[in-house]
Amino acid sequence: MVNQIVNPRRPAVCVTGGAGFIGSHVVDRLLSEGARITVLDNLSTGRRENVEPHLGNPRFHFVQGDLLDLDCLRETIAGHDLVWHLAANTDIRGGTIQTDADLKNCVMGTWNVLEAMRLTGVRDLIFASSGVVYGDSPANPLLESTGPLLPVSLYGAGKLSGEAFVSAYCHLFGLRGWMFRFANVIGSRTNHGVVHDFVRKLRQNPRELEVLGDGYQVKPYLLVEECVDGMLYAYRNVALSVEQPCDVFNLSTDTTISVREIAEIVIDVLGLNQARIRYTGGRRGWPGDAPVILMGAAKLCQLGWSARHSSAEAVRIAASRLAQEMRA
Ligand code: NAD
Repeated sequence: MVNQIVNPRRPAVCVTGGAGFIGSHVVDRLLSEGARITVLDNLSTGRRENVEPHLGNPRFHFVQGDLLDLDCLRETIAGHDLVWHLAANTDIRGGTIQTDADLKNCVMGTWNVLEAMRLTGVRDLIFASSGVVYGDSPANPLLESTGPLLPVSLYGAGKLSGEAFVSAYCHLFGLRGWMFRFANVIGSRTNHGVVHDFVRKLRQNPRELEVLGDGYQVKPYLLVEECVDGMLYAYRNVALSVEQPCDVFNLSTDTTISVREIAEIVIDVLGLNQARIRYTGGRRGWPGDAPVILMGAAKLCQLGWSARHSSAEAVRIAASRLAQEMRA
């Protein structure tokens, strides 16, 4: 058992993408545990408000910078104990229009992080990957050992490349990498994803909800606090070594929910039971969408960690938090 974060020296953690949805929850958790945090974020999809409450905290430092600026990364990362790398292009559909967005922000961005770590001697990395690396694999459930990995989106290709670079840097340059393939992560402060979209659309038009696809897309949904907790658990409990300098984990719940059920829960949470649901049709919500994802988190489960909420519970909690946020 190892426990790198909580030590008397107040470990220093650099969180890339720390002004984003998941990143800001990582920041909240680590600050509450006494760590010193530097956030590096270009605020492309992240928001300063997400970290606003911490701006006066002497243990918190915000750098507005870009992953593609290696000098800035080197300067920012130097002296930290851990890099928690979450910054990426997160507009999956947008990446199909601006076709170099994932290449730049996922592949080059991750390479820059690794290179900055190599050059400054920072050893530990937590990397946010995604279940999209499995593409349309028929495996059920998708396990870390599932292959071949053939992504069906440029975002998925970017994430899989990121994993490959993390692995190579760990094996060549003495880094240690904990990589996580997330299910859909939901909760407060999110700015994208199906639950966010449904709450936003229903606030704009309480009479009708447009649903992309046929609504039969089925996926697992994980609350953001549980996503952060799972990463921290693995980081603290999986001791990597020279022989095995990196590892990859699915971070998910074993339960799933369909888009149709999500629409019904969101309508119920908002108290709009008269709202009509209109489906645009088609198996995929958009090009590159994987219609059915069943991700097993058995590896983390064997280590003693599992999600506390089912997908349906997570959707209900996230919808009510988002509804409150959008009202404020
Ligand atoms: P997000 O868009 O809220 O966070 C991404 C953050 O990275 C933003 O704050 C953005 O401003 C920043 N960023 C983007 N490009 C940057 C660049 N070039 N330089 C510096 N900062 C940059 O999205 P999120 O949902 O919080 O995602 C966090 C991570 O988790 C991402 O790597 C994403 O791919 C991964 N992930 C998320 C989900 C999910 O369901 N939310 C699922 C799988 C994987």
